[in-house]
Amino acid sequence: MSLPDTPVMQQYGRLKGAHPGFLLWFRMGDFYELFGDDAEAAAGVLQITLTKRRTSREGDEGIPMCGVPYHAAEGYIAKCLKAGFKVALAEQVETPEEAKKARGSSALVERKVVRLYTPGTLTEDALLEATRPTYLAAVAAEDTSAHWRGVLAWLDLSTGEVGHRPVQAATLGAAVAALAPGEIVVPPALEGAVEGLLSRRQVSVQEGLFSPLRAEETVCRAYGLKTVEGLSLTGAAVAAVGALLGYAELTQMGKLPALKHPRQVAARSVLEIDPATRRNLELTESLAGNRKDSLLHEIDRTVTAAGGRLLSRWLAEPSSDVAVIAARQDAVEALVNNPDARAEIRALLKQTGDVARCVSRLLLERGGPRDVAVLRQTGAQLPALAKALAKLDGRLLGQHRDGLSGLAELTAYLARALADDPLPALMREGGFVRDGFDAELDNQRHMVTHGQELLAALETEENAVAGGTFKLRYNKVWGYYFEVGKAQEGKVPAHFIHRQSTTTAHRYTTEKLMTLERQLGSAAAQAQAREEAVFAEMCAAVRKASLPLLAASEALATVDVLAALAELAARGGWVRPVVDDSRTFEVEGGKHPVVAARVGTFVANGCDLSDGQLWLLTGPNMAGKSTYLRQNALLLVLAQMGSFVPATRARIGVADALFSRIGAADNLAAGQSTFMVEMVETAQILNRATARSFVILDELGRGTATYDGLAIAWACVEHIAQELGCRTLFATHYHELNGLAGTLEQVSTHHVAVKEWKGEIVFLHEVRAGAASGSYGVHVAKLAGLPPAVVARADGLLAGFTKAARGKGAVGVDELALFATPAHYGTEKPETELERRVKALDVDGMSARDALDEVYRLRDLVH
Ligand code: ADP
Repeated sequence: MSLPDTPVMQQYGRLKGAHPGFLLWFRMGDFYELFGDDAEAAAGVLQITLTKRRTSREGDEGIPMCGVPYHAAEGYIAKCLKAGFKVALAEQVETPEEAKKARGSSALVERKVVRLYTPGTLTEDALLEATRPTYLAAVAAEDTSAHWRGVLAWLDLSTGEVGHRPVQAATLGAAVAALAPGEIVVPPALEGAVEGLLSRRQVSVQEGLFSPLRAEETVCRAYGLKTVEGLSLTGAAVAAVGALLGYAELTQMGKLPALKHPRQVAARSVLEIDPATRRNLELTESLAGNRKDSLLHEIDRTVTAAGGRLLSRWLAEPSSDVAVIAARQDAVEALVNNPDARAEIRALLKQTGDVARCVSRLLLERGGPRDVAVLRQTGAQLPALAKALAKLDGRLLGQHRDGLSGLAELTAYLARALADDPLPALMREGGFVRDGFDAELDNQRHMVTHGQELLAALETEENAVAGGTFKLRYNKVWGYYFEVGKAQEGKVPAHFIHRQSTTTAHRYTTEKLMTLERQLGSAAAQAQAREEAVFAEMCAAVRKASLPLLAASEALATVDVLAALAELAARGGWVRPVVDDSRTFEVEGGKHPVVAARVGTFVANGCDLSDGQLWLLTGPNMAGKSTYLRQNALLLVLAQMGSFVPATRARIGVADALFSRIGAADNLAAGQSTFMVEMVETAQILNRATARSFVILDELGRGTATYDGLAIAWACVEHIAQELGCRTLFATHYHELNGLAGTLEQVSTHHVAVKEWKGEIVFLHEVRAGAASGSYGVHVAKLAGLPPAVVARADGLLAGFTKAARGKGAVGVDELALFATPAHYGTEKPETELERRVKALDVDGMSARDALDEVYRLRDLVH
């Protein structure tokens, strides 16, 4: 779309051209205007009217335009960001008067892009979710092969957290899924590697930022260092962290918040969970996409936003490091055992605010008095918190108690400097500095509020000294003056300066009056300027204390998470699992943390997969197989994040990776059938799992023909048991697989028990050793409400099939699953619905009318 050839449109075109991929919000007076394609895109998202901007020239078609008032911009920007757009904000950096003065009467107001909003670089509370971290990520590779190795780095701009970890082509998906960044920066060569992991709009391809020299220089500048060695960054880590910080700088117009030193997450120090498993287990989101039914929601007892964010990190990235896990468990245990201290700590935490986000906003010059007030309020809780923590054992708690010290001076200063609540959101609203803190400001405020009193006092003073009755008056031309009647002329003191005479009086001023007048005239502006200066001092104090502030914020978040896990464990009667480096997985009395909280009575079940056992799990639909599989995977996740677990006893050797193949999620949008998705996920598991991994497989092979599916499932069980040796739960409806238990020593059969009662099946939800006796599919069909006639027919057919299969001889593993011999159906013809109903008739107790009704119903059954 070509822009009209006017100076302002040329200016617009230049700014727009310099920010490809961004919607340019162009400040014009009291509005931000958008033009051309930007206007068309934004008008739809924002539901505002699209108009046209035309020049007066003949034949000018004009270009699409829409605009929003500047004071309401934040809400509209948030909408655009939510819709996946990036926004560049161009401001007028001078007034029209300044422009005219500097460059003549037709000069154009100078505009500059002052802020770029991208999904990974937000800091405003209105644009962020309180309990969800927003990460900007970057990936750099060491080589260009298909199996490249490299580094994934991340930054939370709103808290200054920086981290990085080694990744490779095969593990990038799991690492990105764990982090769930808002945006990722990649060099052109890796654009394909992140495809499908995030939406296209969340990917920013950058070339120069990754160049080794530039990346190193960026890191050094950001941390004020001479070399990157002190940060233990090498190779791809320098490129990734450098590109990350470089991109953050670009979007923040050269400013960066206080950065924590990069934290390296070592390879194999975290439990790897691929995106499909993460989804299947509904860790932080349910399959339907809401948070409410997720594990995170179920276990979240945190009381601060930063604690909520950290909990979601721990859950998204459980540790594989026994020492890290033990330190967390020690702390949780100490808090479980001391309910009073826990309650006190949680009550104090509720009084604290989101320190990290406030600090970042202040340092990026986007903060206001309320952000400073949060620091004061939080700082005031720290001594009591440190005291409460001192009552508890645990290295981690001790370490974080130390993190709470170091802010006494800042807190005291802010208590003196900042007025009481409520405070204004914006600095320019003024009135946030405490009276009595700054003598100059007090003076100016006094001037503003007591101007008339000061003038009256001066009048009294002059009259008292001179013994006159001079009147202090005001007019627009002369301002304030003393009016002296002709009769009093003799009393005029020497320091009176004559200004003017009228027929009846003389007008005088004095040095004091002139000074006071000047002061009164500028007091309001000066008070504001002085308050701004005090605010700048406050920000400087915050900057100086930024490291202890970030340490305190991390300590508060960690203590909140630990206390929340303790609260959860204490209230739910959860136990501390023994976590070690073995390949044990022994659970007694385990429960599914989410399902158990929803159903009335949940049947607890144990599990033992130690040293690479594979349990084949059979049982009818609805018996609880999926629940049981997920339950054990979730116990592993909880144990490795340092939490207690819902069980009576557990011993768990840390896993390096958790894999699952669950359910039949069609990914039709990506053009893959159910079976294809199933096989792709299975392939990934078989290629990547090690002896230390933990695998759950639900109904493998179901998406294809029976023989095919059985053959695939069979081969997979053999491979897992013989080649991989990982701890595995394998739920299946192929009863034939049970035969494998006889030939492979790691494989054993288990089933979820059901009981027959008066021709119905009762689900016991109990996992027992041995194979299931039947699949009970027809029973489940009946429970689901299939018409009685269909159920009866299916029952009859099943009996026939079973007989036919028997007639062919023994049923081997290579038989169709359909002909498997569920003992329950036996060789006799099973009772039909008609027979059951007839047998159940209480003939003697029926009225003639009831009997006739029943005969009609029975006839309907056989029709
Ligand atoms: P399957 O995978 O065998 O078809 P599910 O795991 O989907 O069965 O479980 C079916 C239903 O049974 C679930 O909705 C759940 O509420 C309930 N359930 C599962 N396990 C238990 C249990 N241990 N105790 C109580 N209810 C259970």
